[in-house]
Amino acid sequence: MTKMKYMNYEMNGTIELKNTGRALTGSGFKDWKSKRPRIEAGGLNFTYSLDQFHIHWGLNDSVGSEHAIGSEYYPAELHLVHIREGHDFQSASKLPNGIAVVAVLIEKSHDLIANRFAHIGEEFRKLKHVGNKAKLEKFSPEIMLPWNSEWFYRYEGSMTTPGCEESVIWTVLQKPIAISQDELDLLRELQNEKNVTSRTYRPAQPLNGRRVLAHSEFYYEAYMSGKTSSHASTFLVLVIFFTIFVAV
Ligand SMILES: [Zn+2]
Repeated sequence: MTKMKYMNYEMNGTIELKNTGRALTGSGFKDWKSKRPRIEAGGLNFTYSLDQFHIHWGLNDSVGSEHAIGSEYYPAELHLVHIREGHDFQSASKLPNGIAVVAVLIEKSHDLIANRFAHIGEEFRKLKHVGNKAKLEKFSPEIMLPWNSEWFYRYEGSMTTPGCEESVIWTVLQKPIAISQDELDLLRELQNEKNVTSRTYRPAQPLNGRRVLAHSEFYYEAYMSGKTSSHASTFLVLVIFFTIFVAV
């Protein structure tokens, strides 16, 4: 697979953050028009436009991500949801490969420079109850990607809507981004529709024989060192779990 291209990710604009009770979402990229962030290449057959992002989290540090690398789960995970160019979410979700989600694992860090949520985190305080919204200006989606976004795992998944087979292409980035303890705590204070705090992740499901492709340094290293590729692929099957995408 070739390298993924992230276009207009360095642009900035206004987005709306919302507590949906099932995640925290960021939307409004459609209004960015020609500045709208897009992805292509990296094994994708189409160009996809950023529709929204959302964050899943757990109530303690050992859980929260919907994917695991090795046996390691992360306290939170970001999903950048892209739809096939020329479609809206509704029509894209009915197409094979209509939706492309880039998943970024979020790790806790005490390194203030590494923290990607300094700008956005203050707004979390306004989102405590379901339906709460906050406008965020000059938001650049670049901060949602790790410095090195080159390495990733790829598999196809499905929507929970009946009749939608394999409509979601998943790209799981190998490198995580960082969040501070303070901002992670603010996320954990967000309430669901029952007015209580809760986890917003879905536990990983076994891969069930799904094929995972990798544009990964692990694979690359195995390949470059002349080892058989079976080592790399066995490793990958073990490390990635299939997860069901939930539209939020
Ligand atoms: Zn999600």
